[in-house]
Amino acid sequence: MTDVIAAAPTVRIPVRGGGSFPVRRIHCVGRNFADHAREMGAAVPTSAADRGRPVFFTKPADAIVLDGVVPYPRGTRDLHHEIELVVALGMDAPEGELDIAQAGQLVFGYAVGLDLTRRDLQAAAKSKALPWDTSKAFDHSAPVSELVRAADVGDLSLRALTLRVNGETRQHGALSDLVWNVPEILHELSRLYALRAGDLVFMGTPAGVGPLLPGDRFDACLDDVVQLQGEITGTMPGA
Ligand code: MN
Repeated sequence: MTDVIAAAPTVRIPVRGGGSFPVRRIHCVGRNFADHAREMGAAVPTSAADRGRPVFFTKPADAIVLDGVVPYPRGTRDLHHEIELVVALGMDAPEGELDIAQAGQLVFGYAVGLDLTRRDLQAAAKSKALPWDTSKAFDHSAPVSELVRAADVGDLSLRALTLRVNGETRQHGALSDLVWNVPEILHELSRLYALRAGDLVFMGTPAGVGPLLPGDRFDACLDDVVQLQGEITGTMPGA
């Protein structure tokens, strides 16, 4: 059969060393650093046994920005940055719950990204106990760097995320401080979703989230492993 409309293109993230990674889904983890949960006024777990379940939400694959150019989004006057480790899955998960011990084998590689957030819409939704979608799953809300193969990243627990805006450090967090590490998050996701090659997982942000304004330049890095640079263009609605 012939398509009756033009098919939307698949987003492909460049891989360091060659090739590209076609994206299927984007999962995101909320409140995965205690210091960020605290700054958002959420309960902070005091032990692994006290963690409950992670908070998950999604973004559409076509929210990805590869060139760092982010037009200030419509519908908000409080766009926030959240620097995050991005995990890229290179294999389908087997049927059923994924073993934590096997979860790491699914990982193709890592990138650094921003989980851009319309904080005013999120606050309004939270205050009414409504879903967050409009605050998270919008166009251009997921700038990501190139992907680096897992073998070239090494031990994640020794790595840290740093976000600078206009040269000033806004966020810094060690991945050893994740409430749920990568295998644990993949296990928890597998209880809810079929995980497939092409899926990305944004792992949650450390403290220090704050506004991005038109003209701001951001520089996000996972130590010296991988870097994402970009800028906010356009104007704020109503400005
Ligand atoms: Mn986030």
